[in-house]
Amino acid sequence: MLGMPGVKEVRQPSRTGQRYFVRTFGCQMNEHDSERIAGLLEADGMEAASTPEEADLIVLNTCTIRENADARLYGYLGSLKRAKQAKPTLRIAVGGCSAQKERDLIQERAGWVDVVFGTHNVHRVVDLLDHAEEWGAITEIWDETRSVDEVPSGLPVLRESDHSAWVTITIGCNNGCTFCIVPIVRGREISRRPGDIIREVERLAAGGVREVTLLGQNVNSYGRDLDLNGRSPLFADLLRKVGAVDGIERIRYTSPHPKDFREDVAYAMAETDAVCEQIHFPLQSGSNAVLRAMHRGYTSERFLAKLEMMRSIVPDLAVSTDVIVGFPGERDIDFEDTLRTMKEARFDSAFMFQFSPRPGTPAADMPDQVPAEVVTERFDRLVELQNEMTFHKNAGRVGRIEEVMVEGPSKRDPLVATTRSRGNRIVHVPGTWSPGSILDVTVTRAAPHYLEGEPVS
Ligand code: SF4
Repeated sequence: MLGMPGVKEVRQPSRTGQRYFVRTFGCQMNEHDSERIAGLLEADGMEAASTPEEADLIVLNTCTIRENADARLYGYLGSLKRAKQAKPTLRIAVGGCSAQKERDLIQERAGWVDVVFGTHNVHRVVDLLDHAEEWGAITEIWDETRSVDEVPSGLPVLRESDHSAWVTITIGCNNGCTFCIVPIVRGREISRRPGDIIREVERLAAGGVREVTLLGQNVNSYGRDLDLNGRSPLFADLLRKVGAVDGIERIRYTSPHPKDFREDVAYAMAETDAVCEQIHFPLQSGSNAVLRAMHRGYTSERFLAKLEMMRSIVPDLAVSTDVIVGFPGERDIDFEDTLRTMKEARFDSAFMFQFSPRPGTPAADMPDQVPAEVVTERFDRLVELQNEMTFHKNAGRVGRIEEVMVEGPSKRDPLVATTRSRGNRIVHVPGTWSPGSILDVTVTRAAPHYLEGEPVS
């Protein structure tokens, strides 16, 4: 079938010499999709432009998660209208989660957009551009990825890093967290087969990649939808198999769901050398009433018990989290529960958000929305608490030896390398090394959001 992933089509590059610019909003899933979009465009002969002004094609890979995402999208499209008036040959394509949600509305409101595509048909971008050039503007949104065979695992990918890569293990999500648009825009959860994933990791390792991050909305439910000889593969087994691939020295994954996290994954982490001692474990709220309203499926007590279980099995585990402040109905007492849970959890770092209603989610229509000034005041208190804890945790690393991977020269000083520890902390180290090098460093100083170190001689 034309355009289906997994079906090889022989296609000659048709846009040789033209330039593209991809602007990405949102999460790693979108960044990884943008790598695929860039890979597809380059396979069609295009080259990356360094600025939107130089481009013949601008692709916006959108996100609906951020506050006022739609207003920002249409604002940005407004500026592209002027760009297109000045350069009529410019093509504009919009993909990602906002496109999936807005569908025909995008071309109704921004008639100068040539192509709108969704989260399930990223692989169609070049065909859609062909269509727009021959027949005129097109919106094509698929409602779902219907089976594992449609997961586009073999697309060309243009990665930003030579040593580090994302690998999708699931798409979509079967949970119904009431603040989240993902199940609506990314559909039901579909797992890739372990063999396909391992082959992709082997290919990456053969090409020089040393670190992979396994991506899924809920990695702990990986494999439940697959039946391999009467058995569903487990995420823990997948971790061990990826860890056995020659050349892969670091494995991370995101995100686990606290309700589904089990001991077998902690043991796989502890027993697989390549898996970093680091986890992103999203709490969202420390109040059981709020967690219920969010449909998260755990209590704060259960969350803390799982955290202790992980820490007892995985030595020196670094833990980051997400917290939403001001969810509808959150009372002072609920917020105090969040502060108390944060203190007990002792997170190494946290991504903290002020609740903002996302159209299309149940939480957007809930009564008892918390006034903005109350949300801001609670948010500031939470950030202050976490900043203190992060600094305290960083200070505890001084004098220790950390294994770090070099990301590249520091933005402030090219003679200093920015590196990342296994615990996912930024460590600045004097000297110049190639990106992807792995070094042992002694931590000499802690700052609130990074460390400094010296190479171990
Ligand atoms: S687990 Fe909840 S927050 Fe995460 S993607 Fe699924 S619905 Fe959204």
